[in-house]
Amino acid sequence: MTMYFNDFQISDLIKRAIKDMGFEEPSPIQEKAIPVILEGGDVVGQAQTGTGKTAAFGIPIVDKVTADRYVQALILTPTRELAIQVSGELQKLSAYKNIRTLPIYGGQSIGHQIRALKQGVQVAIGTPGRILDHLRRQTLKLDQVHTVVLDEADEMLDMGFVDDIEAILRQVNNERQTLLFSATMPPAIKKLSRKYMNSPKTVSINKGEVTAPLINQMYYKVLERNKIDSLCRIIDSEDVELGILFCRTKKGVAELTEALQARGYLADGLHGDLTQPQRDAVMKKFRDSSIEFLIATDVAARGIDVENVTHVINYDIPQDPESYVHRIGRTGRAGRKGLALTLVTPREMKHLRSIEQEIKMSIPSQDVPTIEDVV
Ligand code: ADP
Ligand code: MG
Repeated sequence: MTMYFNDFQISDLIKRAIKDMGFEEPSPIQEKAIPVILEGGDVVGQAQTGTGKTAAFGIPIVDKVTADRYVQALILTPTRELAIQVSGELQKLSAYKNIRTLPIYGGQSIGHQIRALKQGVQVAIGTPGRILDHLRRQTLKLDQVHTVVLDEADEMLDMGFVDDIEAILRQVNNERQTLLFSATMPPAIKKLSRKYMNSPKTVSINKGEVTAPLINQMYYKVLERNKIDSLCRIIDSEDVELGILFCRTKKGVAELTEALQARGYLADGLHGDLTQPQRDAVMKKFRDSSIEFLIATDVAARGIDVENVTHVINYDIPQDPESYVHRIGRTGRAGRKGLALTLVTPREMKHLRSIEQEIKMSIPSQDVPTIEDVV
């Protein structure tokens, strides 16, 4: 039986906004999670990247919050970019309601955030560090918060936010509803949920199948010394609309960005050493397609959801298998097809094998196109 958004016990104002957003039917995680969240209990939601987890918690939240001028829901995200993105999606979902969502992240003037909070914000979405900063300054009060979301919880833990998250959760009323969303469920997440959640119900999609089915994966054997040339031949032979290229280090991002720009590609880099306005500018260029390639470190790319990313290329193979799953999840989103290509040098074959073990499938290899193939 197919569910429709109309079947949910939510206000017509939200249904209208969902329609404006072009969502026709709930995605599987939304179909399963929304009714359970609406019941009011704690929920752990597990689904692959790109399956619509944001609206799964966002719809019940915007339905529940009122226009009263205090923070009623708090959403923690691993990165600034994701805070902005989630805030934007919730703003759209609440287009017909008079509520304000505010992304709260480091790298942006705290004065601006304090002013906005004073004017009245109903949903705060932020990175753990900056949220704690506001709590210490008492510019953010959580005493009226009835819903807390830990979005991309696995990534937050990977980034070492566990102590910050616990410090924040301790300041929210115990009567709250806590929702935790994650693509993977490592033991540390289970521990966190046991400690801070109240008999949570788990909703999960595609157990055991960790990569999205619409992502076609391949790897290329390359030599360290011709890596850039190999990359260029690969991208020249591909029909790329938007591509994200991953490098291991900030320095690697800077070098590859320079090398591609020098060869005439529309490319720009995203890494932690950029200022927030610089990062926002790069993301804007990527979103509106004025660049074709975004070159990023894992940290910079966490949670990014840009439509029409046709290619994810692991210029440097990720060191840990879970990071591979996150990286390639930037493509193949919302039912579109995507291609995930990984460059592997001979001494990195062991990394490739451990990735294959993690995703429980073998990744086919492909030859780097020759010059003749490309021209
Ligand atoms: P996740 O958090 O699971 O990685 P997102 O919440 O970022 O995924 O959603 C991925 C994309 O799918 C977004 O662009 C979002 O707007 C879109 N989306 C979400 N729900 C639906 C739906 N029911 N129908 C169509 N598109 C959707
Ligand atoms: Mg998400």
